[in-house]
Amino acid sequence: MQEHIDHSASRKYEHADAIIVGAGVAGLNAALKLKERGFNDVLVLEAADRIGGRVHTIKTPNGVVINQGAHWTHPLDGKIADNPVTADLTAYNIPSVFDDSTQLSIFFSDGVERKVDFRSKMLNSVCRYAITHYVKETPELTMEEMEHQLAKVAPNLIFENVVKEMVNDSSAQIEPADQKRYPLLAKYIRQNWTAGVHPAHCSLADVLFDPHNPGGLILSGGMEQYPHAMADELNEPTEIEVKAEAIGRSKIRLGCAAKHLTRTNDGWMIEDQNGHRYIAPYCALSPSIGVLQNGDIKMQDPIKAKVDDAIKDYRMGAMMKMTFPIDPSFFTSDKDRVNHRYCVMLDDVEPALVITGNAKNSTVTVLCGGENAIKMEKASAQDQKAYCKHILQAVPTLKQAHDAINGGAPITTDWSQNKFTRGAYSTKVVGGKGQEAPYWVEDGLLLCGEAFSKFTGYVDSAMESGEKAGEAMAEALTKRQQTMARAM
Ligand SMILES: Cc1cc2nc3c(=O)[nH]c(=O)nc-3n(C[C@H](O)[C@H](O)[C@H](O)COP(=O)(O)OP(=O)(O)OC[C@H]3O[C@@H](n4cnc5c(N)ncnc54)[C@H](O)[C@@H]3O)c2cc1C
Repeated sequence: MQEHIDHSASRKYEHADAIIVGAGVAGLNAALKLKERGFNDVLVLEAADRIGGRVHTIKTPNGVVINQGAHWTHPLDGKIADNPVTADLTAYNIPSVFDDSTQLSIFFSDGVERKVDFRSKMLNSVCRYAITHYVKETPELTMEEMEHQLAKVAPNLIFENVVKEMVNDSSAQIEPADQKRYPLLAKYIRQNWTAGVHPAHCSLADVLFDPHNPGGLILSGGMEQYPHAMADELNEPTEIEVKAEAIGRSKIRLGCAAKHLTRTNDGWMIEDQNGHRYIAPYCALSPSIGVLQNGDIKMQDPIKAKVDDAIKDYRMGAMMKMTFPIDPSFFTSDKDRVNHRYCVMLDDVEPALVITGNAKNSTVTVLCGGENAIKMEKASAQDQKAYCKHILQAVPTLKQAHDAINGGAPITTDWSQNKFTRGAYSTKVVGGKGQEAPYWVEDGLLLCGEAFSKFTGYVDSAMESGEKAGEAMAEALTKRQQTMARAM
């Protein structure tokens, strides 16, 4: 059923050069780029009552900082300086510390720590083994290229079988200690592979097996300082605005969920949840793929069909954090005084990641993904606590942490249930094409956000996509101004 939209002239519109839907990292960057290029008449509509989207930091009454969403700014190709967010943090004077756990500590149910780089050693070798069988050559491919090749030539590949074959093949040279672990890894990867999710980018595998992700910068005051610095810069009046005393409205509107998007003769018209209408020649939609796929913003064909087509190759992954503020005295050794990450891989559950805080910011966070995340989001506080204890007990140095958390329920996240995100991050489906840059749906209408970049699912992906969207809109607006000037 199509929604009725009142186009009568009696309803007033608020005009702008560009409307950006969503005040996450992507949306804010798009608006900042426009401002940098001299376009100040930009409106950012945000559904929630806060900015930042999936970057969300809360503080306990004792001042303990908890990142509910993004946690690290990761090195790119091993270099933290190459992450474009790093330069922004320096420019905004946001203090950060480097979490140098380039190798995770990985624990299995036997409680023994093993230093293994899962992704490069295990997943890589399974993929390489499979590719020699199915593609019949062993070219020098990156992990991602191998997975895409495999998806093309063997879309129904059952990883468990590949691993079985591999384990029985003496030429595969698997170390005896790894033999037990391969089937577990294969089981986990297979679940996601057959679910149509790119195995390298499924739930927690993103964090655990991704070379893009070896530790990174942690913002001492929490990741949300970053979008706040952007918002401050955006709302700062420019010299021209100060001179003209033209600053009369906030550029970011909170509690204004876009409900309808319509193309009119005057441009793109958005109607928000409060019935307010905004119109602009350019519009960028930055909500998550989950929000767009769920049809939360009503559109009519042919725009709806074009948007649906642009996002059909994505799925939203789940991720949940359960954080316990704990007694600072828990962090007794020097090792515990720095942030540390432990991967816990129990036989019957997919991996969980435990992140410890430090003596100054004393927290223990259990981060889980996939089906576990969805289950835990809906579980009772008691069950959530029991799950966390189960995970913590596999790590000898954290065994006592479960006593430290005896008192309270964890502080939890709900990214999949949350109607403004409908998932934690996007993944491209196996063999799907996805988009590597902001996507022009139609003249003047853009899609941007973490999904629309080479690596989906990161703060830097969102930042780059937003910047490119802002740049593209600024280019188009400049041309439009020139055409209008010539016509006069
Ligand atoms: C638990 C978790 C851990 C993570 N860890 C990391 C990490 O350590 N490092 C890293 O780099 N990345 C991490 N990420 C990913 C990172 O947070 C995201 O990729 C990034 O923040 C996405 O930014 P975005 O602007 O594309 O989308 P969002 O942040 O989702 O912004 C979109 C905005 O649109 C708003 N919106 C939705 N619907 C509407 C509507 N109808 N009208 C108006 N506004 C609307 C939303 O409220 C939101 O503010 C993590 C994510 C999660 C969930």
